[in-house]
Amino acid sequence: MSNKCSRREFLGRVGLSGIAAGFGVSNLFADNNPSKIDLDSGKVITNDKSKSAVLRSGRIFQPERELPIKCDTDVLVVGGGPAGVAAAIAARKLGVNVAIVERYGCFGGLFTGGLVLLLIGTFSKIDGKPVQIARGINGEMINRLTALGDCGVTEWKEGRDPNADPEAAKYILSEMIRESGAKVFLHSWGVDAIMDGDKVRGAVFESKSGRQAILAKVVVDASGDGDTFAAAGAEYTKYARHIGLVHRIGNVPGDKKFNTPIKGVKWLNMGGDEGDGLDVEVLTRMEMDYRKKIWDSVEKLKKTPGNENVFLLEVAPQLGVRTTRLLKGVTHMAYDTVIKPDVFKDVIGIASAGGKNLVYIPYGALLPKSVDNVIAAGRCISMDLKVAERCRLIPACFTTGMAAGTAAAIAVKDGCVPRNVNIEKLQKTLKENGAYLG
Ligand SMILES: Cc1cc2nc3c(=O)[nH]c(=O)nc-3n(C[C@H](O)[C@H](O)[C@H](O)COP(=O)(O)OP(=O)(O)OC[C@H]3O[C@@H](n4cnc5c(N)ncnc54)[C@H](O)[C@@H]3O)c2cc1C
Repeated sequence: MSNKCSRREFLGRVGLSGIAAGFGVSNLFADNNPSKIDLDSGKVITNDKSKSAVLRSGRIFQPERELPIKCDTDVLVVGGGPAGVAAAIAARKLGVNVAIVERYGCFGGLFTGGLVLLLIGTFSKIDGKPVQIARGINGEMINRLTALGDCGVTEWKEGRDPNADPEAAKYILSEMIRESGAKVFLHSWGVDAIMDGDKVRGAVFESKSGRQAILAKVVVDASGDGDTFAAAGAEYTKYARHIGLVHRIGNVPGDKKFNTPIKGVKWLNMGGDEGDGLDVEVLTRMEMDYRKKIWDSVEKLKKTPGNENVFLLEVAPQLGVRTTRLLKGVTHMAYDTVIKPDVFKDVIGIASAGGKNLVYIPYGALLPKSVDNVIAAGRCISMDLKVAERCRLIPACFTTGMAAGTAAAIAVKDGCVPRNVNIEKLQKTLKENGAYLG
């Protein structure tokens, strides 16, 4: 007997035939669902016209519509990477209300989801001696990873930068955010800025719950790509830099630990090709090409003596986009100036690429020239590419995130815009909360 039945017969079997006979379209689920099913095409159609984009003369129009306000907070952080996590926790430390929106299901950004893992620039050499530069919230994370024992972080001595385990880091960052009391929205993609004149007043985000708004007094853009400051109309420069895909392999022979905390597990970086990290077709092509390249390289490795049992443990769930938009800020960090300790009076943190050259980061590099109430943090702040090689490192992103969150909270409490925050107060608060300012 054939399993096929007509659409009308099928609807009859599932109990919709009565309505089907009378109207041609039927309610799917009682009164509270505006969706209907077209009995001839079998397609679900929506009755709620205000939500739909409209096709008119071959062009698509999105009608104006009111958005639900999900929450009204003091500080909104867009992006939950190293910079965003540090910003949210730093702002909460000053007692203001904070919400954080992250597009994926975990915290850590490229550090964890991108499997980057190597905390380069945790230490620097000052007067010939190793000094821990990454302190404050970053320091707390390293200490908590260390306390997990063998599974958290590689052995790190004075002067040796630690490498973290991605799952341990996701777990610790999640707990630190939970303890901070910030309101969290995971699986939520910030898609627009909410403007009140030239002031940012929050952000619009998309999730499985639809398009919603969060109102905020100050927004920290920690999206890595400057998504919110760009939407707000702040000036920026766009770059197409190398994009890679990191992976780990398991069962690597030998007794020693490699560059991860887990025996037999090795971390492999990828430089990758140059490309526009804001172009979805570039991202798609790279993701697919790199996965094949990685798979083939592991298969090749398995054919070499001694490596027969090696396996591909994990390809990073997040493509490694290094640099896209860099803010044009109140202060632009040019390499020649930021390596001098006394050029800027508003230094909010110090970065290092592990050697003895330090980068003194001014608060002005986090502030857009014209738009108010948004502060940039992490790998999209105002800097030239040579400075970015240092300031996009994970510890540096924790540092600028901590500064941005602290400044945002001070602005809220003092009732001023971020560009008018009292610099001495900002620096004093950062030091009190463990940041290293030299
Ligand atoms: C291949 C590669 C190798 C690297 N190697 C090292 C290394 O060895 N050591 C080192 O220290 N650094 C390294 N880096 C640099 C470092 O990983 C990143 O620069 C750093 O993680 C940036 O931190 P961030 O918080 O600014 O941004 P990200 O880590 O990119 O985090 C941004 C977060 O925001 C989220 N997000 C983005 N857009 C939105 C949106 N619109 N709405 C909501 N959420 C959003 C993302 O999902 C992400 O969680 C490497 C980078 C790459 C790509």
